[in-house]
Amino acid sequence: MKVLVINAGSSSLKYQLYDMSSEEVLASGRVERIGMDSSIVTHEPSGKPEVRSVSEILDHVTAVKRVTDMLTNPEYGAIANLDEIEAVGHRVVHGGEAFSSSVLVTPEVKLEIRRLFDLAPLHNPAHMMGISAVDTNLPNVPQAVVFDTAFHQSMPNTSYLYPIPTVLYRRHKIRRYGFHGTSHSYVSGQAADYLKQPLASMKMITCHIGNGASCAAILDGKSFDTSMGMTPLEGLMMGTRSGDLDPAIVPFVMNKEELTLNEVNSMLNKHSGMLAISGISSDMREVTEAMNDGDKNAKLAFDMYVYRLKKYIGAYAAAMNGVDTLVFTAGVGENSAALRKAVCEGITFLGIELDEERNALRSKDTREISTDASKVKVLVVPTNEELLIARDTYNLVKQSQSS
Ligand code: AMP
Repeated sequence: MKVLVINAGSSSLKYQLYDMSSEEVLASGRVERIGMDSSIVTHEPSGKPEVRSVSEILDHVTAVKRVTDMLTNPEYGAIANLDEIEAVGHRVVHGGEAFSSSVLVTPEVKLEIRRLFDLAPLHNPAHMMGISAVDTNLPNVPQAVVFDTAFHQSMPNTSYLYPIPTVLYRRHKIRRYGFHGTSHSYVSGQAADYLKQPLASMKMITCHIGNGASCAAILDGKSFDTSMGMTPLEGLMMGTRSGDLDPAIVPFVMNKEELTLNEVNSMLNKHSGMLAISGISSDMREVTEAMNDGDKNAKLAFDMYVYRLKKYIGAYAAAMNGVDTLVFTAGVGENSAALRKAVCEGITFLGIELDEERNALRSKDTREISTDASKVKVLVVPTNEELLIARDTYNLVKQSQSS
């Protein structure tokens, strides 16, 4: 079965076409600047040169049409005709409390995703445009949705409730949802497979450290707690997001600086984190480079980033009454040996012993970077959210065909 995975944003759409018999990517690409002039399509067929085209793409329906044209092109396509696409899987950021696993798209599911627009106003409407565009272009193809929040629905209420008046939870569903769930779920499964241990009996902390960053405490194979909250702003210090701060700072700053709600939101989401402290960049590579060249603010940003991550790892070890596996993933987690070293060196009391040579090695595969004697296994696991979306979609469609 061939499965098309789509991640639709408000002005962009990323795609991968998988052959599920081998889990191989046949082609991938992205459409950028949807709705603006000069939209760009970048198509990367496996084993063939990249193709780039610039044209006017005013909406998601046209974007999906361009994608299917690319995929079936005789010269640089990956399939002979559209019938070969047997299922489409979508990434959806917010599944609220309604979805604790991936589901096939039905009219009820669409209605529920619309109800959740309030909780993810920037993301869910764009995902819905992607789903509708597939409805139009591939009307008979089953679709599935895979939610960033679903994996964390297993959290107990002690983890997901905020200590504020409970009427706010009842009325507005204000609670911790957590994000990056597809990644935390994928890497925890990969880590258990690598260590040949049943995930259901492990105490694992997964650190998804990219531009956005979150940690998850995974107890007996289920998310027990996670650092992102009702929105992806809470938790770790990130590229441009503040992460945790005293909530009283918000009204204080609004008052002192005469900021509107939108302005303070933008300050905390787009102008904080590593960018604000380093004064250089939100990009870990640039910050590390500046730090190595002696820039004091870059060093402070790096040190704060590490310090806050260490605090979460310690907190989650306490929350689970122990930890046996620590996993690093995503752009920074997979690639920055310096970050991993700084974090692990500061939490040796947990039984973590880093092997510096293993840590310095670069590889695209899952690998262990702790010493053989380390009580806690430390792994680097490349994340692959698209593959998990493709797998869930494949399994749901297969199940529905056999029932
Ligand atoms: P992501 O959001 O997962 O794509 O991760 C993006 C982040 O990963 C950026 O901060 C990049 O600077 C960082 N990153 C990517 N490659 C490296 C690297 N080789 N060393 C350090 N950071 C990296």
